[in-house]
Amino acid sequence: MTVYNFSAGPATLPKSVLQKIQNEFLNYDNTGMSVIEMSHRGKQVDHILNECKRKIAYHFDLANAKYEYDVLFMHGGASVHFFMAPMNLLNDGDKADYVDTGIWTKKSIKEAKRFGDIQVIASSEDKNYNYIPKIENLSRDAKYLYLCSNNTIFGTQYHTFPKPVEGSFLIGDFSSDILSRKIDVNDFGLIFAGAQKNLGPSGLGIAIIRKDILEKCKDDLPSMCSYKVIQKADSVFNTCPVFPIYVMNYVMDWISECGGIEKVEEINNKKAKMIYDILDEQSVYTPVAEKESRSAMNITLTLPNDEMTTKFLKEAEENYFLGLKGHRSVGGLRASIYNSFPVEGVEKFCKFLKKFAKEN
Ligand code: PMP
Repeated sequence: MTVYNFSAGPATLPKSVLQKIQNEFLNYDNTGMSVIEMSHRGKQVDHILNECKRKIAYHFDLANAKYEYDVLFMHGGASVHFFMAPMNLLNDGDKADYVDTGIWTKKSIKEAKRFGDIQVIASSEDKNYNYIPKIENLSRDAKYLYLCSNNTIFGTQYHTFPKPVEGSFLIGDFSSDILSRKIDVNDFGLIFAGAQKNLGPSGLGIAIIRKDILEKCKDDLPSMCSYKVIQKADSVFNTCPVFPIYVMNYVMDWISECGGIEKVEEINNKKAKMIYDILDEQSVYTPVAEKESRSAMNITLTLPNDEMTTKFLKEAEENYFLGLKGHRSVGGLRASIYNSFPVEGVEKFCKFLKKFAKEN
């Protein structure tokens, strides 16, 4: 039985990675131990961490960036960065600009207000976040401009990023589209993400931070909340989330096996287009996001009424298409098709979408 998991996260991981983990779970690297039994300061785990950092840096092409960056691994997923970023970067009275594209940025704004003078310079709240707003009023004196590259809930995604003003930089929450496409890191001072969509299991967050910005982060913060402390400890200030990092290391190999980020991006765009084309053709489906803001990761749509939505979900489940219920703030359906969601799953789902449209 093949199940297609459209869940928004935790989400589908590459089958080959899961099989590799299964094969070596009881005996990692001929040690006679499972990787989850090993000291986080031992040589095997040290090697995994270093390899994983190196591969992330490679996929982000950090070697060719204008600035030097550090890759950090942390507990707590993405949400810790909602407060850690402003806590580390803003001093009393400092300003920061935020773009509000839905629940994830709303949460970040709320946390950031504890630490600085936060201005929401653009928002798509007027249309229940179904588009990425134009950014016109950048503050001249903001320390940074914060955005969420892909809004998982509403299915919207930036296709170009705003330019920060001179002396400022971007902070991006890339939780739901990290390493799904090529981006220019140069404008970003900090990129962060929870692992549980494109990288691996939950419980792990990664941060890619410009070294010169990290050096200027505030001192005297609680250690676990300090980018500086985590960086100085090589991401092992305390017992790091070994298992998620170990899985992520293999997911990085899988990206290479696919042909790298460019190839992954091409496949992602192809998968998304297959679904959006049907939504545009069949009147029973109404895509939620405006065309120019559509996400290649989370495809949101509604059906004419709740009965039809329930019917769709039931029939989808009978066909092993799972996790399609939309978030409660949007309703309808959401198909999350992250990097490792297989093309053949999208093809089968498209057939199902067409059949359902015909019958209804
Ligand atoms: N940002 C985005 C864009 C998300 O989609 C999510 C989770 N779905 C989060 C942040 C929060 O992530 P976490 O649960 O890892 O804190």
